[in-house]
Amino acid sequence: MRLHVVTFGCQMSVADGEELASPLKGRGFTAVAEPDTADAIVLNTCTVRQHAEDKALSLIGRLREWKDARPERVLIVAGCAAERLGPWIQKRFPYVDLVVGAKSIEDYPKIVEEALGARFDAMAETRSAFSEEAAKPDKPTGWSSPFSAFVTIMRGCNYSCSYCIVPAVRGRELYRPYETVMAEARTKVALGAKEITLLGQTVNSWNESGIRFPELLRRMGTIEGLERIRFESPHPYYVNDDLIEAMTTTKSVCEQLHLPIQSGSDRLLKIMRRNYDSASIIDKTARLRRAIPFVEVATDIIVGFPSETDEDFERTLDLVRLMKPSWSYTFKYSPREGTESAGMEDNVPAGVKEARLSRLNELCDKLTEDALSARVGQVVSVLDEEGGFGRTRDGFKVSWPESEPAGKLVKVRITGTSKRVLRGERDERA
Ligand code: SAH
Ligand code: SF4
Repeated sequence: MRLHVVTFGCQMSVADGEELASPLKGRGFTAVAEPDTADAIVLNTCTVRQHAEDKALSLIGRLREWKDARPERVLIVAGCAAERLGPWIQKRFPYVDLVVGAKSIEDYPKIVEEALGARFDAMAETRSAFSEEAAKPDKPTGWSSPFSAFVTIMRGCNYSCSYCIVPAVRGRELYRPYETVMAEARTKVALGAKEITLLGQTVNSWNESGIRFPELLRRMGTIEGLERIRFESPHPYYVNDDLIEAMTTTKSVCEQLHLPIQSGSDRLLKIMRRNYDSASIIDKTARLRRAIPFVEVATDIIVGFPSETDEDFERTLDLVRLMKPSWSYTFKYSPREGTESAGMEDNVPAGVKEARLSRLNELCDKLTEDALSARVGQVVSVLDEEGGFGRTRDGFKVSWPESEPAGKLVKVRITGTSKRVLRGERDERA
């Protein structure tokens, strides 16, 4: 039996996709890269912006043919859009076999078993009568690979950023216990992971059994064989001296920090309820760079938030110029039902949003290009995740000709860049 998993959205969602696949794998499903040969599809949706939701809904629509071709196939729709629109999805697409929202992920194995267990039994019986023809093997989705694993340390979000639907669809913060998190990390390392990315919506607010996030980093740093630790997405509010100290002194913590600013206008940051101002971002970035000179920062920015003026937008450009992120994820504001800002007039005209986004992207692309070209000529340490493809500690993707199996830390001399990927060749002399 074959399972195809499609995931939309952030790295949390990619990690959830792995969890969503697991009870089916326990039932004997093997993962495949293409839907055509699949007996089951898990569609893991995102709703953070309307565009993300629309993409998932349109895919559900297109999967009707896949389902009609063999009605015994199973289609599961899960994740954040499933949480927001559950009953509507079920009614609009009656051929969907199971809709499970993001809040139910802890109970998901039980829900699947109750709803589909008998179907899987029947499927296994008919399937075993045939020999399994060859299918393309599954490729890891997102950044997760056997050598680079995710560990979810918290779910939900206690913030109430006025534009954001996440707290509504993922619920309040739930910290996974310290022992569970450490045990999961150790298991993944024993299974071959050399890198672990700790995940949570505000990952650095994690605080459990009297242990705060920076201390968790220090303790993770003692795991034998764990070469690299990353974490996503930190909230700027909890980026403090303790965190910077833990990043500096824990060797395996990578020289990289995601600091989502959203805007550079203090007026807008207040209305967005972000709990920081532009001066604190400048101060935190400076402290971080002082402590870890070669650190790379990344950010998220929204343009066209209700009432955003040219002046507000200029402040965003100013902050980006000061912060110099090597990677920026830029978005046009998208009103989400039930959020505080959905009650504000979405009054930045579409053309203005578009123009601001393209000006911002021009600046951000230039900073990314600068960061990439600064690497040319250097020899960098890369974790080979796919046989000739991996990332540097500070988050750059690298590609090089490789004949040895993946999973090693290798040195690559960078000779050029193309499509935001560093290109190079192995150089173990350096
Ligand atoms: N927990 C993370 C963000 C999760 S959502 C954090 O606090 O940083 C990922 C990104 O999507 C956000 O950082 C924001 O830039 C963007 N985003 C969220 N809601 C949005 C909306 N309504 N419109 C446009 N972009 C949005
Ligand atoms: Fe959304 Fe804000 Fe929570 Fe991030 S911190 S998930 S942007 S509410």
